[in-house]
Parts: sequence; C-alpha cells; structure tokens
Amino acid sequence: MNFAAVIVAAGTGSRAGGAPKQWRMLKGRAIARWSVDSFKAAGADPVVVVVAAGQEDQARRWLGEGVILVCGGASRTESVRAGLAAIGEVEAVMIHDAARPLLTPAHIHALLDALNSADGALPALPVADTLKRERAGQVATVDREGLWRAQTPQAFRLEPLRDAYTRWSNAAAATDDAAVLESAGGRVVLIPGDPALIKITHPEDFAMVERLAEVARITRVGQGFDAHRFGPGDGVWLCGVKVEHDLTLIGHSDADAGLHALTDAILGAVAAGDIGDHFPPSDPKWRGAASDIFLRHAAELVHQRGGRITGVDVTLICEQPRIKPHREAMRARLAALLDLPLDHISVKATTTEGMGFTGRSEGLAAQAIATVELPG
Ligand code: MG
Repeated sequence: MNFAAVIVAAGTGSRAGGAPKQWRMLKGRAIARWSVDSFKAAGADPVVVVVAAGQEDQARRWLGEGVILVCGGASRTESVRAGLAAIGEVEAVMIHDAARPLLTPAHIHALLDALNSADGALPALPVADTLKRERAGQVATVDREGLWRAQTPQAFRLEPLRDAYTRWSNAAAATDDAAVLESAGGRVVLIPGDPALIKITHPEDFAMVERLAEVARITRVGQGFDAHRFGPGDGVWLCGVKVEHDLTLIGHSDADAGLHALTDAILGAVAAGDIGDHFPPSDPKWRGAASDIFLRHAAELVHQRGGRITGVDVTLICEQPRIKPHREAMRARLAALLDLPLDHISVKATTTEGMGFTGRSEGLAAQAIATVELPG
C-alpha cells in the first residue's frame, strides 16, 4: 500500500523547557529528524513536515533532503489539514507527532497491516495505573475498564480521512486524528502500542527518551575487500589521497582500493548489496570516476535508514608505496567524506612479507570493516 507521512512539528512553545522540543538534538539528530528518517526507511512517499511559520530555515537545516515543508496553522487540526493538502494522491497516510522520536519501521509496517481491515489504526497502551478524579477536593476512583492511551503515528486510508476532515468543524479541537475519523463513523482499530513511543512533554521526558534511544539502537558490522593490479603510471589513489609512486592502479574508476573496500563494508553493514550493484562497471559514466562518490552514496544509504556510522577501519596491503607517511592525510580525508570525527577513523597498512600477489607487487589489496548503529 503506498502511503504518505505527515509529521506535525509546528509547536513553538515548550513545556519540556528550552527550544521547541522538535528541534532539540537527540544523539546528533534533531528530534523531528528521527521520525523523518524512520518514515523514509519504511517507504513513505512523500514525507511532509508541518512547521511553524519562521521555523522553515531551522527545519531545512535539520531535516535533510527529500522532505516537503509546509507551514502549520493556529491549531493542531489546521496544521494537519495543511499537511494533508500537500500529500497528493496516495492510498494511505500516517499522521505523527514529531515529539515521539523513537518510531521504527516496524511500528509503521504494523499500522499498514492493520489498514487492510480498517479505515484507521493507531497504537495504544492499556492504562495500568488506577485512575483518580479530583473535583472540589473530592477524590474518586475512575473505572479504567476499556481505557487506552492513544499514541502516534495514526494510520488512515486517505479518502475516509479526507472526508472526515471536510466534515469536521474547525471550532472543535481534536487532540488526535482518529477522533476526526471516529466522529464521521469510520472504523478505527487499535494495535499494541509501545512505551518507547513516548511523547516528549515534560523536561524529564527528554532524559527518558535519551536512555531509551540508547537501548533501541542495534549495531551492525560490515566488511569489504578489494584489490587492483599495478600498471605503468605516476601514482595511486588510496583512501581518497593521491600518493606519488612509480606505478598506478588499474581499474574502471580511479581504482582506489581503500575507498572501494570501505564502501563495500558500509553497504554490507546495512545489507545493501555491493559497490557493483550501485555503480555497475558496465556503465561508462563511472569510467575514471573519483571513488568519493561511491563512499558518499553508501553513507547516505545508512542515513536514509536512520542509522549512523560509528567506526571504520581500513587495512591497506602492499609492499609499495609506503603508506605510513600518508596515513593521517587518509584518515582526515575519510573523516571529511563521512562527516565523522577523526577518532572514528582508522587506516592501517601491512605487507605480506613478499608472499602472494601483493608480496610480488603485482597489485594492492585493501580490507575494511565498518560499524553502523541503526534503529532497533
Ligand atoms: Mg575496486
């Protein structure tokens, strides 16, 4: 089922303290960016983010490419209407509060499944605590039977939701979108909610989300290997650095075995095939290409999955040229290409003591390992 996402990020105040909570940073990404990345990873198209007037520049800076920005209205209902107007024709739409960053593609797929038998679906948690109502100093116990705490995202078939919003009076404040569909008689179902979908509301919620973000991430490892043959020339490209030498490396692109091995390692960490799948050697447009673009593409795929690269380690295997004098330049180049701190990047070198094709200087080989942190 093709679906769009509307993320409501138009709040300007903050009960959580400080800057509007959707633009606070959580482990290097703005809170709103977490949901954007999860929706993209789950295949939402388009992803619309509704922001407050005046926050567009901030939003553009923190949300990255491939997001439609829309200005919100005075109320949540008006903001959702503005978002819905921007999604075009899709079968379904998910509406989500930006203040719930720990959304995963698994939540999204479960909601899509639920739409097979309903007009709307939302995650909800049973009320576990005893409920009390205090009025005029009188405390009474409220029956919690059948009560649920509604979360987001809430998923809808587009047509019934659009109809419901057309009939919904702007005067009535809807605190969620399922309420709008319910009022029009649409069939809404609950799916199991997730405590990790907590909405950041109060200052202490941010610390809780930070702790949950820690455990909700998984680490994956990928490895890559590449080798290129030496031929006549005046230098080699290795890890994005030109190294003077009395030979060159032969290849379709610039034959940078270090970058190729590292690109394959990153692709491997997110199970995204290999460098040849993304940049076929049969395609003439990659002839002589600087291998930077291969590496940047692999890193972008990690970001699209809501992940981040946490470490890379490259080993170059050759008798000549000597790598050590260029090692720091290579680390700096990789750090710049991957937008990572230098202490996340390792470049090493070894010989094979004269043995094998590298020992005979027929060619140069490279191995790489990359670690990537992804939403769990
Ligand atoms: Mg290669």
